[in-house]
Amino acid sequence: MSESTLILLWNIPSTIAAALTPKQILTACIPLVFILTAYYLLIFRARMHIIKTKLPKYNTIPSSTVKHIADKDTLRNLSGKIDVAIVGSGIGALSNAVCLSRQGFKVAVFEQNETVGGCTHTFEKEGYEFDVGVHYVGGFGPAVKRMYDELSDGQLKWNKLDYVYDVIYNGKTGERIEVTDNHLLNRKVLTEHFGIDAKSWRLFNRKKFWAKFWSCVVLQLKLWNPIVLRLVWPCIAYPYRYFALRSTTEVLRECGFSAEAIGALTYHYGDHGVPPHRCPFFMTALLDTHYRNGGYFPRGGSRSIAKCLTAAIERRGGHVYALTPVQEILIKHTMFGTKAVGVCIRGIDVMVNKCVVSGAGVLKTFGVDSAGNDQTPLVDFKDGSHQRALLHNKKSYPTLDAVTPCLSNLSLFIGLNRTDKQLNLPAQNIWHLHDWDHESSWKNAMNSSSILDNTADKTPFLFISNESAKDPDFPLKHPGKSTSEVVAMVKYDLFKQWENTSHKLRHADYLEMKDKITESYLEPFYLHFPQARGHVVFTSLGTPLTMNKFLGRKFGEVYSLDHDIARFDGYKVQRALHPQTTIQNLYLTGEDAFVVSVTASMISGYVTAARISWWSFLSIVPMLAWGLPHTMFG
Ligand SMILES: Cc1cc2nc3c(=O)[nH]c(=O)nc-3n(C[C@H](O)[C@H](O)[C@H](O)COP(=O)(O)OP(=O)(O)OC[C@H]3O[C@@H](n4cnc5c(N)ncnc54)[C@H](O)[C@@H]3O)c2cc1C
Repeated sequence: MSESTLILLWNIPSTIAAALTPKQILTACIPLVFILTAYYLLIFRARMHIIKTKLPKYNTIPSSTVKHIADKDTLRNLSGKIDVAIVGSGIGALSNAVCLSRQGFKVAVFEQNETVGGCTHTFEKEGYEFDVGVHYVGGFGPAVKRMYDELSDGQLKWNKLDYVYDVIYNGKTGERIEVTDNHLLNRKVLTEHFGIDAKSWRLFNRKKFWAKFWSCVVLQLKLWNPIVLRLVWPCIAYPYRYFALRSTTEVLRECGFSAEAIGALTYHYGDHGVPPHRCPFFMTALLDTHYRNGGYFPRGGSRSIAKCLTAAIERRGGHVYALTPVQEILIKHTMFGTKAVGVCIRGIDVMVNKCVVSGAGVLKTFGVDSAGNDQTPLVDFKDGSHQRALLHNKKSYPTLDAVTPCLSNLSLFIGLNRTDKQLNLPAQNIWHLHDWDHESSWKNAMNSSSILDNTADKTPFLFISNESAKDPDFPLKHPGKSTSEVVAMVKYDLFKQWENTSHKLRHADYLEMKDKITESYLEPFYLHFPQARGHVVFTSLGTPLTMNKFLGRKFGEVYSLDHDIARFDGYKVQRALHPQTTIQNLYLTGEDAFVVSVTASMISGYVTAARISWWSFLSIVPMLAWGLPHTMFG
């Protein structure tokens, strides 16, 4: 095709747009909307109906075997007989596996931990069951509900948290603000509490709309071939940066909010792990919408997610294996470049017919930095160098470092000897903040040189959640008991000294430190729930090293890559975090390929499937279009 033809083609849309009035453009869109709706109702719904009627019906959550281990013979037998090998079993990987097995691909999911589910797995200790990385799930618009239904064959059921699903508590002043699933009421409460004027809200709404719009434009580019990203990027980079990527504090100040109001508006920054002064405004805008309808929790606990999705995969002939760590992603060099051909597990090469998907996180897959400090990524160090160079390139924001791992966390798991009904524990979360000034408390925590600088009175925030109260099925399995959790964020560096000690054989000073932190974190728990005093019979503190062991992390990173501005800025980073990697037949899924949260990672599984199979692409586009009004105007 000659250059002039290309220019002509390029100019067609703008020429048409210039020649038509807005009314004519709207009229022309009507048939398009009709076609999309008809496609959705007739083809997509019909396909779903056929799939559902073919499957067996369950009244309760199937007790699928999520603890299968693949021995060497099983692995040998799998080689060459599977289409897709998926590394990790987080919700992104499982959702991707369901989408692909629905298209007829034979998939095998390999998980290094003894339980499937990644952050959605649960663990049992002394008769108590604890959820690890799910406290409340949001984004429950019609499209997201349908996706969860589709992935679990309608088996996954959700329970809504209390009407007041979050409580904001200022540890310094004792102020307490309730957040309900009535968005307008929340606004009214904040307006009265901080004297916010109508103009600030108007400006905020406008900026929020545009931030969400441009971030959605960029996120949906992950559905398309990376060439589209390359072509479109120069046109969208400026508005995207301007509307979506400025720091939250900067934008909110511009809207006229006081420092205290900014502190309260961004109370839940722990959901993405980046304080407002470093967080791109679009993350705050999306989060503001994410829990607009309140929070939800899976019935039967977060393990139901992996159970239902695993059952859906196995019903379609796929396999899900636990305790099966992938050592290497096998790469073949061809005249057209490098190509993923399989995975190596326990020294056995499992070859695939179609592709390899990594849900283990981009750092684990390609390595931590381009300097070569980490020589053990899943993709051979040399083969992954191109992708790594894209990821770790210096950003155009000179003050920020390149993409880095997210901070880690401390999780205190609490077991009580009464039910949540007896103790009157609400199905809600408490955000116990140090004060409204997140920037200072964050900086103090970052400058801390000892773990004991992270006790309850010093840490930037504590997230207190009554897990069992959120699951109406909990008493069926654990009668007479209830559970709660206290979570805080912490620097990984403080734990490096114990990095090379093995789990359960750590030094006495490590255990002593854990006891001190446990004691300190129980105090705010009792402050909010004094009725629990005397009923705590079990505690266990999860540290960054626990994250490394059970979630296969390298730096205990709670949300994998840090969600700061650097992570979202620039074509190169966007390309590095695109589901389709620079290595042929190697794809990424999960929070790194999209954004943090259970729902976003689940969507990421769809998006990656859309890059692998056209059928998935055709089914996800109408679904996301359906969800767009919820995201944009919610
Ligand atoms: C403490 C905590 C609290 C959270 N709270 C919430 C919340 O309330 N609401 C919410 O929406 N989100 C929450 N999140 C975030 C949410 O859970 C995650 O964003 C999401 O589950 C990430 O899913 P993922 O698909 O990216 O994979 P992950 O869940 O990160 O799973 C990756 C998997 O890959 C496996 N793996 C790694 N290396 C290998 C290997 N070599 N071979 C085989 N397997 C490997 C790991 O073991 C792990 O199972 C929380 C997260 C944490 C950690």
